[in-house]
Amino acid sequence: MNCLFCRIIAGEIPSNKVYEDERVLAFRDISPQAPTHILIIPKEHYDSVLEAPADTVAYMVDIAKKLAVQEGVDKNGFRLVINTGDEGGQSVKHLHLHLIGGRSMQWPPG
Ligand code: AMP
Repeated sequence: MNCLFCRIIAGEIPSNKVYEDERVLAFRDISPQAPTHILIIPKEHYDSVLEAPADTVAYMVDIAKKLAVQEGVDKNGFRLVINTGDEGGQSVKHLHLHLIGGRSMQWPPG
């Protein structure tokens, strides 16, 4: 298995886990861009959002909303990001949703 996030799901690589159920795993980003920076990933491997069924993506967003409340970033706001492909800045080819919050952010991003 050469997918980094599949190896995290399998427990072969440690992660700072914040949530897990039968469909998704959520863990803290190793290089946080804000006080709250969590990655929500499906346990089933999809290279990107292009391959994933809509209900999987919707479920990931639902979990991200719950984690935003748990992290206390729901009141001030947060950002959900799915980088896709090379020009989209996707470095890990396993679908992941970034939950980023806890500081003010500009739009558009750099
Ligand atoms: P992206 O650039 O959208 O593909 O995001 C990949 C994210 O995975 C980056 O924000 C990395 O910091 C993060 N990352 C890479 N390796 C790990 C790891 N072992 N544990 C947690 N986060 C990681």
